[in-house]
Amino acid sequence: MTHPLAAGPLAIGCGRDDAAAVADLSSDIVIIGAGVLGLSVAAELAARGHRVAVVDPGAANASLVAAGMIAPAFESLLDRADAERAALLRAASALWPGFGEAHGIAIDTNPAEWRGPDPDGVAERLVALGFRMERRGGVVTVPDDVRIEPGDALARLVNRVGVTLIPGRASALERTDEGWAVATPGGWVRAAAVVLATGSGPSPAGLPDAAVRAFGTVRAIAGQIGWVERPLTDRVLRGPGGYVVPSKGGALIGATMVEDQPEAVVNATASARLITEAEALIGERIDAPVAWRAAVRGATPDGLPLAGGVGEGLHLALAPRRNGWLMGPLVAGVVADGIEGRPCRPRAAALDPLRFSLPAPEPRLRFSPREA
Ligand SMILES: Cc1cc2nc3c(=O)[nH]c(=O)nc-3n(C[C@H](O)[C@H](O)[C@H](O)COP(=O)(O)OP(=O)(O)OC[C@H]3O[C@@H](n4cnc5c(N)ncnc54)[C@H](O)[C@@H]3O)c2cc1C
Repeated sequence: MTHPLAAGPLAIGCGRDDAAAVADLSSDIVIIGAGVLGLSVAAELAARGHRVAVVDPGAANASLVAAGMIAPAFESLLDRADAERAALLRAASALWPGFGEAHGIAIDTNPAEWRGPDPDGVAERLVALGFRMERRGGVVTVPDDVRIEPGDALARLVNRVGVTLIPGRASALERTDEGWAVATPGGWVRAAAVVLATGSGPSPAGLPDAAVRAFGTVRAIAGQIGWVERPLTDRVLRGPGGYVVPSKGGALIGATMVEDQPEAVVNATASARLITEAEALIGERIDAPVAWRAAVRGATPDGLPLAGGVGEGLHLALAPRRNGWLMGPLVAGVVADGIEGRPCRPRAAALDPLRFSLPAPEPRLRFSPREA
């Protein structure tokens, strides 16, 4: 599987045809990382009229490996979310129709189905969390959960007019009079603002303390998913331990969550378990070969991404755990608003990138001179 960034002419935009041509490029904004978060921010900023450069080595990343579910209902259910978290995921997914239309991303609106145990309990919980659902025998159908095709969506975002692609890894940042310079293999890229969207990877060198501390709150959760060249289903099927998802030319079987695992590895025992779960969901044996892939998700302690400014013209778009595709448009809006200095939208506070890493406030004196 190839990341769209690695695909020849697509790799470098605006007439540039080799990495050396990058030397001393300047842009309004540089984004480091071309996963769903980096590219969603890039596309949003480009749509608002900014010149954006995206730096990425172009290898497969978590966003490409993902199943592409936009699943506020079943993610809330499986994560035992409270009503507030469910409302946030619902608000994030509600941005998808407009975002998809703006950037030419097709949404498969075939509703997802629960085919696991306890349909009564599942239906009751979904309704309590504010989701629409339909019961048909033992199956619970949720129209709120839809899907996009990750490879196609990344390609759409990458090809956005106004986005210049720079292949390679950003190794360091340096402060300049105008903002920041980002070191890439082809030269320095200068910009007024930088967005760090580096997934579960380490931070580039040269970041101020606030950004380093925020990066320090991100942990790695590895996961594997299997590809079968057979149309096992025409809709997303979910159960407590896995899912089967229709995907271009076949189906995906997923997925594992291996906490604090920074390496993308495929585990044979997990593969067997996921196949068993998938067979239960589709009600038949899977007698075709399964090609396994693995990737690493970044995650924060509360499972929500870090999105917004950390000072000095630096912004984060990081660590959406297992909901990077779901959260992409919301993160893009929050980060773009911050860069433009617009008022924060209501959901922005929940994604504040400094919410875990700010030093504890000094205890207030009980009777300060001003209060006396
Ligand atoms: C098996 C699996 C299934 C999933 N299914 C779903 C799903 O159905 N729905 C959903 O919403 N989410 C899903 N997820 C989660 C989703 O994939 C992640 O939340 C999301 O991809 C994270 O996006 P990202 O942009 O933060 O990181 P990534 O996709 O990892 O992208 C980060 C990018 O930054 C680049 N980078 C890192 N360091 C540097 C540097 N120094 N210089 C330049 N570039 C750099 C990397 O090369 C990479 O391309 C799934 C994840 C897995 C593993």
